[in-house]
Amino acid sequence: MLKVNDLQVFYGMIHAIKGVSFEVKKGEIVTLIGANGAGKTTILQSLSGMLKPKSGTIEYNGTELSTIEPHKIVQKGLAHVPEGRRVFYQMTVEENLELGGFSVKDKKQIDEGLKNAYEKFPRLYERRKQLAGTLSGGEQQMLAIGRALMSKPEIILMDEPSMGLAPILVKEIFNIIQEINKAGMTVLLVEQNANMALSIAHRAYVLETGKIVLEGNSKDLMGNTEIKKAYLGG
Ligand code: ATP
Repeated sequence: MLKVNDLQVFYGMIHAIKGVSFEVKKGEIVTLIGANGAGKTTILQSLSGMLKPKSGTIEYNGTELSTIEPHKIVQKGLAHVPEGRRVFYQMTVEENLELGGFSVKDKKQIDEGLKNAYEKFPRLYERRKQLAGTLSGGEQQMLAIGRALMSKPEIILMDEPSMGLAPILVKEIFNIIQEINKAGMTVLLVEQNANMALSIAHRAYVLETGKIVLEGNSKDLMGNTEIKKAYLGG
């Protein structure tokens, strides 16, 4: 479904992504794990068109994405839940969700999307008229996921959904990701929380300073001594 080949991304002189290749198949949860600054966010931003790679290819269902604009990428079925959620604080929960459906022209489809989001996240329904800036961190993460689902994506890219959340909320968010996947959504999950990410992903890639240094089934990686030492706290 998604195939990235020899991706190279620069910020001016800084060579942030140094020839990264990976793939995500339909129905999978794939995780990219790595420490601070490894390049996880840079890769997701390149996939959703916010950053232009210097070279390499990003093939999605046979279309090359690296040369097309972000809104067209959304229309092709890729949705991005950015790091730090980035909900619009001065807008209500419902207005934030509606924005996620900007690529959907049909009002009926938007209403259906809202209904789905509220079914999935009853807490958002209770708070639909509340300003997003007054939501808790976990609720904002739910809103960011709900907003991404409004465009009816085929694959969802999630950038560190666990960031800044208490362990119990991290668990809740990861349960939601798993449920969304079981309902048919393909997921590319970027995480520093390797334990949690490996516990729900089918396959994983380990990123270190802009390069993939290991890849495999999540279960195998969880048992790998190097991974345990470097990422799983012993
Ligand atoms: P984190 O988990 O801390 O978000 P990350 O793995 O997502 O880390 P990136 O944010 O992708 O890492 O950063 C990769 C590298 O690119 C880092 O060395 C970072 O300093 C650099 N970088 C990121 N954004 C910029 C920028 N706008 N200008 C210059 N360098 C940048």
